[in-house]
Amino acid sequence: MDHHGRSAMGDYPGRVESHLSDIGALAFEAPLLTSLQQLYNSIPAALGVIGRDCRYLTVNTMYAAIYDTSPEAMVGRPVGDVVPNADSQLREDLERFDAGIGIIEREVTRANGYYLQAIRPIHGAEGQVIALTAALVDITARRHVELALEQVSHHWQFHARHDHLTGLPNRRHIDHVMSAESRRCARSGTPLSVLMIDVDFFKKYNDHLGHPRGDACLRAIAARLRGVLRRQGDVVGRYGGEEFMAILPDTDISGAHGVARSMLRAIRGLDIKHPASPYGCVTLSIGVASMITSSMHLQGRVDELLGNADRALYSAKAAGRNAACGYPRHLA
Ligand code: GH3
Ligand code: MG
Ligand code: MG
Repeated sequence: MDHHGRSAMGDYPGRVESHLSDIGALAFEAPLLTSLQQLYNSIPAALGVIGRDCRYLTVNTMYAAIYDTSPEAMVGRPVGDVVPNADSQLREDLERFDAGIGIIEREVTRANGYYLQAIRPIHGAEGQVIALTAALVDITARRHVELALEQVSHHWQFHARHDHLTGLPNRRHIDHVMSAESRRCARSGTPLSVLMIDVDFFKKYNDHLGHPRGDACLRAIAARLRGVLRRQGDVVGRYGGEEFMAILPDTDISGAHGVARSMLRAIRGLDIKHPASPYGCVTLSIGVASMITSSMHLQGRVDELLGNADRALYSAKAAGRNAACGYPRHLA
């Protein structure tokens, strides 16, 4: 045997039974060996031993069952035959054990479940690594619970940030985006624009057609508004009731007016009949505001921006609705 215990290597290709006596330099009497083999197979854990040549030296029945086979069919076979691409990983593990690492643990996924795999070195008389033991613990039930919890957590994270009716970002998320984008635009010295968007005569729409039709109308408007925004970073959310807000980073006042005009057109284009509107269909009014600012007094400047958008919306309403106005007016 060389110092890597390679005497076992050449012996294996033709052999198909498991042999505990082959592990390292251990030698057992036959009756003891039989009872050890029985014990090995009856342990409620998946255990295997792999030689330095990356072939299975021995595996118990539970280990083989994970790979849908029997110990007899596994012993002597290259690991890579049973677990595709496992050889290179094993060779890396051997290098790490040679360098003195004592245990490697990783999660492995098989068609029949999830396992925690613990690999340890077996040392020869002179301390050299002559083989590896691999133990697989079934963690499928735990992983299923973890995956279910992850799904629940994603679900609630989504609903914490999105509006239930329209699926758009909600007020809380819009506030968060506003805070992040205002800081970013202040740092880069680029303009930040906002649109305050309000559905015209919406109370009358509900009064004439009923609340469920009102809800469906808000959903259709939301989807269309989202469709108008093409730039990555643009966000439109439901600000509350029949009001929406769009945040347009790196967009100046004239760009923002362009987006507002597209939104007015897009919603008129939906042609949702409105029996009590002078326009005959559902329309919007939009307040447009923009700022370029430094990081100094940023919160005050953001409040001013939102106030300006509100005032501009009021102007659009006063001008007869179905219109966009900017504030201050000369910027429009
Ligand atoms: P204006 O043109 O001045 O904006 O008039 P308006 O009727 O749209 O404005 P007002 O603020 O008087 O009424 C807003 C209406 O929006 C009142 C409310 O019934 C309706 N609304 C708010 N949220 C919802 C909702 O989630 N679903 C439905 N169906 N209606 C809503
Ligand atoms: Mg309103
Ligand atoms: Mg309204």
